[in-house]
Amino acid sequence: MLQFHPLSCSPMESAEMFSGDTRHFLIIGGGAAGFFAAIRAAEMNPNAKITILEQGKETLSKVRISGGGRCNVTHACFDPTELVKFYPRGKNALRGPFTRFCTGDTMEWFESRGVPLKIEEDGRVFPTSDQSQSIINCLEGAAAKAGITVLKHKKVAQLYPPEEPGQRWKVLTIKGESYYGDALMLATGSSKFVWDLISHLGHTIVQPVPSLFTFNIALPWLHQLAGIAVPNAIVKIPKSKLETDGPLLITHWGLSGPAILKASAWGARELEAYNYDFDIKVNWLAGRSRESVTEQLRQEKQENARKKIDGRAPVEIPTRLWKAFCQQAGCTEDQRWADLRKDQLNKLAEFLCEHTFPVKGKSTFKDEFVTAGGVELKEVNFKKFESKIHDNLFFAGEVLNIDAVTGGFNFQAAWTGGWIVGTEVF
Ligand SMILES: Cc1cc2nc3c(=O)[nH]c(=O)nc-3n(C[C@H](O)[C@H](O)[C@H](O)COP(=O)(O)OP(=O)(O)OC[C@H]3O[C@@H](n4cnc5c(N)ncnc54)[C@H](O)[C@@H]3O)c2cc1C
Repeated sequence: MLQFHPLSCSPMESAEMFSGDTRHFLIIGGGAAGFFAAIRAAEMNPNAKITILEQGKETLSKVRISGGGRCNVTHACFDPTELVKFYPRGKNALRGPFTRFCTGDTMEWFESRGVPLKIEEDGRVFPTSDQSQSIINCLEGAAAKAGITVLKHKKVAQLYPPEEPGQRWKVLTIKGESYYGDALMLATGSSKFVWDLISHLGHTIVQPVPSLFTFNIALPWLHQLAGIAVPNAIVKIPKSKLETDGPLLITHWGLSGPAILKASAWGARELEAYNYDFDIKVNWLAGRSRESVTEQLRQEKQENARKKIDGRAPVEIPTRLWKAFCQQAGCTEDQRWADLRKDQLNKLAEFLCEHTFPVKGKSTFKDEFVTAGGVELKEVNFKKFESKIHDNLFFAGEVLNIDAVTGGFNFQAAWTGGWIVGTEVF
């Protein structure tokens, strides 16, 4: 336990400290989880005093840049049992909380406060304005209406638990200002600085590693195909036995798209251990077997003997990709199907179904990225998102060892956690 250092307080803070029955909820971090907890707590406890301390000059800065500036606010998956499957870390912890506040509740929360939402084809939910500012205006407006105090430029640098029951939590900013709360919430996202403070409170911090990144593949012929996408590929990482599926996109530096981002999330820890140096096998044809594709190419050779091989793709991939595979298989530009050699046919089948690409490094996916790692989940009571080590200490959002694949699930964890903290805090 840390020592409680006597600190000077401003007259206002001293008064707050001893202001009788008014309960004070102090929240560190003005992001998604912090705002949601504050607004819910204010609705539940109209007489409580609620303060958010934010280190930056702006609150909700991640909401602003999220989803490419559009804010993918949640995902249209309304069944908690299905929803938890999108969380490589936090699946079990979130099962109960999602039965209390799920994706549909998030949608209703924003829509009932004047932010119409739309569901896109792939299930991602955005404001119809396509502007993250709509979400920011809604949260800031609701916080102001509820009388929540939001203080910016307040970087918290010390956390002091109450020394005796009935005393308050105390925090100290880097400028030496002190603030007090009957309850303290840490909604600080992926901050190594705050994780160090939390570990001094006796909590275990699971080592943070990046999640949701794209794969660098140093093959100039692949880079020339940048922009080409297939709707359903399968990506395997033989070293880790990991397999993901979904749309796959060729970029100027390698491969991206949901199939890759999913692999980066589920494999976040292993891929970091490999130092982002590993092989992947790609099937561009929704998992069709190499045997069936080989058979189809043989038939093509018989039935279209006089036609040029790279004239038209015989399988469902873009023609430019097919032409590149023909080149890689050693076919010449005007080669006809009749002249396709056995080794070339085998090579084509291999490229379509199980070609190995060497990954050397990763790149940031600018639309969404998160950190895997954070406060160890076994040390948190998810009925309240409260510490099992300290009473009246709450966590929600990315500060916890919870993260999801791309698609709005990361915000959903922050909304759900924030809402439950706000409900349970007093
Ligand atoms: C580029 C990008 C795009 C994204 N897009 C999406 C998306 O579209 N959909 C989705 O679901 N997820 C998205 N995410 C992930 C999502 O933004 C996070 O999961 C979410 O913001 C977590 O919310 P939070 O409240 O836990 O943390 P944050 O939003 O990170 O908020 C934490 C706050 O705490 C403050 N803070 C930290 N330390 C201190 C301190 N010592 N004192 C005071 N304040 C402090 C920070 O300044 C920050 O404002 C995206 C992430 C990124 C980086």
